[in-house]
Amino acid sequence: TAASGGADLSPEELLAPVLSAFWDEEKSWSLEVYRRHEGYEGLRKALAMAPDDLIAYVKDSGLRGRGGAGFPTGMKWQFIPQGDGKPHYLVVNADESEPGTCKDIPLLYANPHSLIEGIVIACHAIRSSHAFIYLRGEVVPVLRRLHEAVREAYEAGYLGKNALGEGLDLDLTVHAGAGAYICGEETALLDSLEGRRGQPRLRPPFPAVAGLYACPTVVNNVESIASVPAILNKGKDWFRSMGSEKSPGFTLYSLSGHVAGPGQYEGPLGITLRQLLDMSGGMRPGHRLKFWTPGGSSTPLLTDEHLDVPLDYEAVGAAGSMLGTKALQCFDETTCVVRAVTRWTEFYAHESCGKCTPCREGTYWLVQLMRDLEAGKGTHADLDKLADIADNINGKSFCALGDGAAAPIISSLHFFRAEYEQHIDEKGCPFDPARSTAWA
Ligand code: NAD
Ligand code: SF4
Repeated sequence: TAASGGADLSPEELLAPVLSAFWDEEKSWSLEVYRRHEGYEGLRKALAMAPDDLIAYVKDSGLRGRGGAGFPTGMKWQFIPQGDGKPHYLVVNADESEPGTCKDIPLLYANPHSLIEGIVIACHAIRSSHAFIYLRGEVVPVLRRLHEAVREAYEAGYLGKNALGEGLDLDLTVHAGAGAYICGEETALLDSLEGRRGQPRLRPPFPAVAGLYACPTVVNNVESIASVPAILNKGKDWFRSMGSEKSPGFTLYSLSGHVAGPGQYEGPLGITLRQLLDMSGGMRPGHRLKFWTPGGSSTPLLTDEHLDVPLDYEAVGAAGSMLGTKALQCFDETTCVVRAVTRWTEFYAHESCGKCTPCREGTYWLVQLMRDLEAGKGTHADLDKLADIADNINGKSFCALGDGAAAPIISSLHFFRAEYEQHIDEKGCPFDPARSTAWA
């Protein structure tokens, strides 16, 4: 099935879970249950390999970062300079906050040891003796569960001095953030972890060269690291047998919105939204898909014309969007796209860290225009102004948050300009006139 995504697979093969295989089991989060499912077997194999061979193995598997950008994980590890005399750090980005994105938090809640095992493997590869998990602060139950899993891992000898008797010394610190979306941007996260206000740093230098405390640092997403043990355990060829040549492997898809079966679905990269909807019960009864996001609100919207686009980095990119975090938010024909985009725009304006002018000022003005348009108080000239401001944010901001704020506006104007015009011409929201006066 390599290079064919999921096109030839049966529903059972399509949804053969790996990370989520035993989430339903009692105490799935415990070390005992994890070990029952071959937990920490990948680590044994990894520790038998020299660090450079391990990096090459992960690189050959084709694993790409699951935080949104899809950067090759093994290549990122390879960037860490060796013999530089500096400490190296691994920082796991668990600050999942993108609207619609909700895969890392359930993964951590149900199966935290897959991440811890992946962390030990990655630290062996990059020769690091201290790793950090930066967790979104609001998810207190997950924080407690992570602390308990780390305690179990220390007690069992997977962490600490001379882990598994293999000479690896490794400490793992769990740090809870304080609820700022921008701290999910990797360099803002590092500033926050160092005790400063979280704001993005200029890149380059990338964290691989100067990261935490100005030392070489790998910053990886939770799902990326948690996927590594299975690659070691089952082999890189097994991993490559799924997905496509450039986007191989399995992944978590988060289906939400007006669907009959919202939730986490695990399958190969390259399956389509149509396949996922077919297997999960489709849209809610009597309704049809109007628009959707492939990877959370910062990826450009797609429509029902894109139901058969393979969900891999290349194909979604070719369709004019980004795979991002695979947060598939589906909206049916009862949704006002102007209203939905207004809500997202308010989110970005609220979360803008204020460091750069295009995003700080631009997101404020986008909100003013979107609120007026949604309430039927906008003009046709406002649409050009909206497009112009979005264009002045997109690609001109200091970090990806600005691009994310512009994406739903640019794409909704592209696909649904007529709906914006209807709000102007009818002087109100055609979907929900009562609500359209909410901003009056
Ligand atoms: P990016 O493409 O700039 O970087 C991706 C990763 O590759 C980074 O870790 C970066 O350090 C590394 N990298 C890139 N070029 C490098 C080089 N030349 N040398 C060394 N390392 C290099 O993307 P980004 O700005 O870090 O992230 C944007 C993504 O974040 C978006 O795709 C979006 O989908 C995602 N996102 C996710 C969430 C969430 O909650 N998970 C929230 C917002 C955004
Ligand atoms: Fe801050 Fe926005 Fe500029 Fe990013 S784009 S640095 S969030 S103001």
